Amino acid sequence: MITTHNLGFPRIGAQRELKFALESYWKNQSSRDELKTVGTQLRARHWQDQARLDFVPVGDFAFYDQVLDMSFTLGNLPERVRGFHGDSLDNYFRVARGRSAQNAEQHAACCGGVAAGEMTKWFDTNYHYIVPELDAATQFTLDTSRLVEQLGEARRLGVNAKPVLIGPVTYLWLGKTKDDSDKLALLPRLLPVYAALLDHFAALGIEWVQIDEPALVTELDAKWRDAFVTAYDALSARRVRLLLATYFGQLRENLDLACKLPVDGLHIDAINAREEVSKAACVLPDSAVLSVGAINGRNIWKTDLNATLEWLEPLHASLGNRLWIAPSCSLLHTPVDLTSEEKLDAEIRSWLAFALQKLDELSVLASALNHGRASVADALAANAAAIESRRTSTRVHNPAVKAAIAKIDATFGRRASAYAQRAQKQAAILDLPAYPTTTIGSFPQTSEIRHARSQFRSGALDMAGYRIAMEREITRAVKEQEALGLDVLVHGEAERNDMVEYFGEQLDGYAFSQFGWVQSYGSRCVKPPILFGDISRPKAMTVEWIKYAQAQTNKPMKGMLTGPVTILNWSFVRDDQPRSVSCHQLALAIREEVLDLEKAGVRVIQIDEAALREGLPLRRSQWGEYLRWAVESFRITANGVRDETQIHTHMCYSEFNDIIASIADMDADVITIETSRSDMELLDAFDEFSYPNQIGPGVYDIHSPNIPSQEHIVGLMKKAAERIPAERLWVNPDCGLKTRQWDEVIPALKNMVAAAHTLRQSA
Ligand code: GLN
Ligand code: ZN
Repeated sequence: MITTHNLGFPRIGAQRELKFALESYWKNQSSRDELKTVGTQLRARHWQDQARLDFVPVGDFAFYDQVLDMSFTLGNLPERVRGFHGDSLDNYFRVARGRSAQNAEQHAACCGGVAAGEMTKWFDTNYHYIVPELDAATQFTLDTSRLVEQLGEARRLGVNAKPVLIGPVTYLWLGKTKDDSDKLALLPRLLPVYAALLDHFAALGIEWVQIDEPALVTELDAKWRDAFVTAYDALSARRVRLLLATYFGQLRENLDLACKLPVDGLHIDAINAREEVSKAACVLPDSAVLSVGAINGRNIWKTDLNATLEWLEPLHASLGNRLWIAPSCSLLHTPVDLTSEEKLDAEIRSWLAFALQKLDELSVLASALNHGRASVADALAANAAAIESRRTSTRVHNPAVKAAIAKIDATFGRRASAYAQRAQKQAAILDLPAYPTTTIGSFPQTSEIRHARSQFRSGALDMAGYRIAMEREITRAVKEQEALGLDVLVHGEAERNDMVEYFGEQLDGYAFSQFGWVQSYGSRCVKPPILFGDISRPKAMTVEWIKYAQAQTNKPMKGMLTGPVTILNWSFVRDDQPRSVSCHQLALAIREEVLDLEKAGVRVIQIDEAALREGLPLRRSQWGEYLRWAVESFRITANGVRDETQIHTHMCYSEFNDIIASIADMDADVITIETSRSDMELLDAFDEFSYPNQIGPGVYDIHSPNIPSQEHIVGLMKKAAERIPAERLWVNPDCGLKTRQWDEVIPALKNMVAAAHTLRQSA
């Protein structure tokens, strides 16, 4: 018989119950016990949802983050939160958010506020974890309380529990040392804690433990590869069986290493590494289990079950009971339940599977393998019909879009003239001063805006009324900018709920769920739109708003768009064609918008690529390929304009030393970036690489309520001018202002404009 299991389940709840419980606790509106009860209920419900599996993950639930949970299990708390009041949950939130919740006011002096732990992206997902803090003195001490409590709950519910841990090598790999010491030097201190934990599980009667080592799908140097050998040699004598789980990519040069580690089973992500499954089956010792991640844990499409059985059946024949099946990775990255999607178009819905539906698929696969396909003939036939409907649907396949893509040639991505000539023509038309000032796009999302939007959604406000409300906001933003004396204005993006959703809603080929939430970090969830079909733009999406805004002022008004790579990276995307093809389709659609804006007389157009960097593959050897099509897509979008039209792009991250050549290759006339928090240190990239076009290094940290002073901004810009010729510098904030209040934004921008004046005088 085949064994079924799951690597992890979304913890947030189908209706985001955990989010609301957390936020209410943080606001002191509910007690710690109430929060803990919600956690218990969610775990119980999710285990029941998974109960038909042979093994159910326990320990994958976290109130904030599973990596932070692991840090607490290992006793690796930052020094600054040790010895505070309250129970460990409060300390946990202090690390996660910089403060606990309950009684934060009373305790402001002693333990109210501390620096939050750094947050960063979990591999190539949009989930963010709290980075383990390490240094040469780090000590580990085992705290089994969380896992023991949850295993007890699971036992009472009759669940066959498989505890889930982050493995020791990946744990260190995820961590950061502040003192530049060698993280791996901590391994000998860490391993006894893992060994004790495994012994504890054994004493509780646990049979299998899932130990996640996704670091194995990245490029590792010899020292890290050796660490795996050391670690698992040390853990091999424990009395529980270890399933070493890898996911998110191919093992490649680490495959052999992984297969030969002294563990009892290996999980391979067969969505990303199908070809490695049979190799692993050959190399693994005869006693070891091979767990195959046959269902995509990262997307929302139905699995082609018949096609999957085609390759699973022979594998089953050769491995017999040693074959386990599961989703490719934790289902954390998928929404919970498709059945709540009542508004989703029925045809599109028939192509989808959220977490619960993926578990159904797993059961069907298991039955087919155990008892023959005939035992699940109906389910397989229904699945085949859905797959076929999607494969042939005219809503997915639009011949006109395919023809347009086929016509893309090198001229699409090339401006008529080189930057220097364009810049002259643009300067003549725009007539901007030195150190021109601008903002990144959005202005504060006021309660008036939110109110109008929700009234429009509910039908209480009609289109005309909504338009008037938005135009009022646009006028306000324009007047404020004129009063401030900014040089290139924006309309403020009042009409946009979200920079991707706004465009997705207007493009053909996109669908939207109501409850398709995925955790991004802590209580924050995102609802990625679903890119299901060939992309086209039925009509202009932004032109009327920008024209309206331009009509309110004589200053140049920037047209504001989201770029194709960002739209792609923040969506659930098709699995039936390469990402690059979907990206090219988006590029053509946004290109039409760029050209329509130009036709409408818009002289400056900004195309945001906030998410370009996060699409980078896990392995560096694959970066070049990604950057090639990503940059090409941006160029297709942007570069159809006349020399006189100035193209801006914006990226709100800081780290790009390693991709600066590709960014230069996008050939935008102006790029605005985030730099204020690092005191312009990020501009180090420009020491070695001379960026050819204009740059606006952000001088106002929009993530903070602090108002930067004029002197501070002048100082930052002077630092920038040491690296970039002053005539190519712009003065602007780090990012959009939508999360700030007007009464913060006005003084900050006043100082920014005054700083530009000072700089001009000394120029
Ligand atoms: N134009 C967008 C804004 O100002 C950019 C947001 C972003 O880069 N994340 O809101
Ligand atoms: Zn930004």
